[in-house]
Amino acid sequence: RPWNFSAGPSAMPESVLRQAAAEMLDWRGSGMSVMEMSHRGKQFVEICSQAEADLRELLEVPEHYAVLFMQGGATAENAIIPLNLLGRAAQPKADFVISGIWAKKSLEECRRYGDAQVAATNAVETVIDGRTQGPSTWLPETSSWRVRPDAAYLHVCSNETIGGVETMAWPDMADLGAPDVPLVVDASSHFLSRPMPVAKTGMIFAGAQKNAGPAGLTVVIVRRDLIGHALAICPSAFDYANVAREKSMYNTPPTFAIYIAGLVFKWLKEQGGLAAIEQQNIAKATMLYNYFDQSRFYSVPVHPSVRSRMNVPFFLPDTALESAFLAGAEARGLMQLKGHKSVGGMRASIYNAMPLEGVVALIDYLKDFERSHG
Ligand code: PLP
Repeated sequence: RPWNFSAGPSAMPESVLRQAAAEMLDWRGSGMSVMEMSHRGKQFVEICSQAEADLRELLEVPEHYAVLFMQGGATAENAIIPLNLLGRAAQPKADFVISGIWAKKSLEECRRYGDAQVAATNAVETVIDGRTQGPSTWLPETSSWRVRPDAAYLHVCSNETIGGVETMAWPDMADLGAPDVPLVVDASSHFLSRPMPVAKTGMIFAGAQKNAGPAGLTVVIVRRDLIGHALAICPSAFDYANVAREKSMYNTPPTFAIYIAGLVFKWLKEQGGLAAIEQQNIAKATMLYNYFDQSRFYSVPVHPSVRSRMNVPFFLPDTALESAFLAGAEARGLMQLKGHKSVGGMRASIYNAMPLEGVVALIDYLKDFERSHG
């Protein structure tokens, strides 16, 4: 199979795909495919609760957090979160750290339901260590975030998939002067790429289709005391209280996607868990960024201190070379390297399922292309 650098839906661990294929027609002697099972039947209930147990073990999710398997993607959560959390505060207000396109989308969606304000933003140029950084290629220091102490929550996107900017340390809200404001983290594109301090957050959510499984499943991990404050206009299927009470079976959940995510969680445990996968991710990202940094042909826009280990945007010296670059890459089995249309250039997404050999193959091609076009 070729190496797949898609930002999502993205490459899956091959062993997971093989197991799903082997079990496709007959899940463990049941005579049924998982997609043919009732979500209320014994077999699927077992699949779903095992997936939840494995996820809790991987992320060390404390008991006072609910794990919800939902639908609608992270985009739907941008509405579902304010609908569930704004009602906690005396006034419906929430604050946002703008780190790129995804955080901005979350802020705009929240504005439909309440007063959403910017706590900090990287949407401007800045100078760091004498180097000029363009908008969305750096992160404001936590000490500069201005969080309203009576906000219903603070939203952070901890990995900007398009910009390639990753927040390495999540703040303690007490240090921001807002101890009662829950931190809400959109971790979609680096979910399960490293251990995550769940206990520092009010909730973490992620669309599954990067590191956790197929599109169609959204994972929500939410502190139980934040549940039960939904606005009256919140659709009942999106009220965390209903979803949590019914153990993600308030209505039909995305059963097949949950099953595949469960296989991914097992695979992660076999890899040695999140601390082990983090070491692999550091090794892959370091190798790729080191190559770019010594090259005078390619450039990486993101400041070294906040470069994502998952999504690596880079530019060629001339946009006129891009189609030849992409065609040559595909001919070598290096797929889906085109950057997001809003920023242009190239992007290599190197999620958990991308082995080091894939990054080595990419660097070999980068070198050859530089040699022939530099
Ligand atoms: N947040 C982040 C960080 C993303 O990368 C994406 C999608 O790529 C989204 C939100 C939107 O997710 P979805 O397409 O699942 O709604």
